[in-house]
Amino acid sequence: MSEPRVGVLSGGTGTPKLLRGLRELDANFFVIVNTGEDREVLGLYVSPDVDTVLYTLAGIINDETWYGVRGDTFRGHEFLEEELDVDELLRIGDVDRAFKQYRTYLMERKGMSLSEAVDELRRRLGIKWKVYPMTDDRVVTIIVTDEGEMHFHEFWVEKRGQPAVKDVRYEGAEEASAPPKAVDDLLRADVVLIGPSNPVTSIGPILSVSDIRHAVREKPVVLVSPFIGNEPVSGPAGKLMRAVGFEPNVRGLVEYYRGWGIDPDVLIMDERDDVEPPGDVEVVRTDTIMKTEEDSIRLAKEVMSVLREVAGS
Ligand code: GDP
Repeated sequence: MSEPRVGVLSGGTGTPKLLRGLRELDANFFVIVNTGEDREVLGLYVSPDVDTVLYTLAGIINDETWYGVRGDTFRGHEFLEEELDVDELLRIGDVDRAFKQYRTYLMERKGMSLSEAVDELRRRLGIKWKVYPMTDDRVVTIIVTDEGEMHFHEFWVEKRGQPAVKDVRYEGAEEASAPPKAVDDLLRADVVLIGPSNPVTSIGPILSVSDIRHAVREKPVVLVSPFIGNEPVSGPAGKLMRAVGFEPNVRGLVEYYRGWGIDPDVLIMDERDDVEPPGDVEVVRTDTIMKTEEDSIRLAKEVMSVLREVAGS
């Protein structure tokens, strides 16, 4: 059969590592990206996960941090902090700042929605794969902790993930809708790939948008686990999974998505993972760690062969 058309749901680290491989394979996919961490910084509209996906697909991502542009300089940021005594909160590189500035201009002065501005930037970067923010409305991921409610960035960067987490909610999700083109593309997709992103802060916000959730429910779904054993490969996914009532492992992962009404067809988990997966989902085991571009390509090849099988059956 011809190559399946794949709808990928992505956050800003684990799934972009896989997108780096799918890009090299020239696969047929589009990406719907989390915007639950979007915010304004000194008047700039910052969309961290969308920018990581765009930079990844353009081949310019800083693949040490999975944030910002490779080789970027920080003179603007340093000038703000050292000379002007301005606390910028995020460390924004000079090229990255120009990119964010242009998006803010498109939105504020040219009247574009976020998805229109992202599409314009995508075209200007020469990216052929469609990239959609999950919504043009404001949905904000709120971490409810013993120190009060906070933005994910405040929890993870400023407070170093220390506060005890009681709950996570997606403010604004009930009234939000997805960009219509994203929904059309999802409805036409052969299969949905949920990459190895943080379920609670990257994929949950995307699924909290009802028209995306409903479209994904209609499709075969392949999951790649961000966990090995009872730990995430990196980041706070373990703590956040526990806070919303799930084990931070492949069993919790499958249950978590079932909680959204999405029953995965295949779970791709790490070959070193000794947690017993649920008995009622097909499992493929492989090395899921992507340190280098070669790792990303190798895993992307394996994922594509699973996607072909699932889409063809
Ligand atoms: P965020 O927006 O920066 O939080 O990024 P994501 O949600 O897209 O990615 C974070 C998740 O990626 C974490 O839960 C990690 O466990 C997972 N992750 C990071 N690198 C890898 C990797 O090489 N392999 C796998 N399987 N998971 C990874």
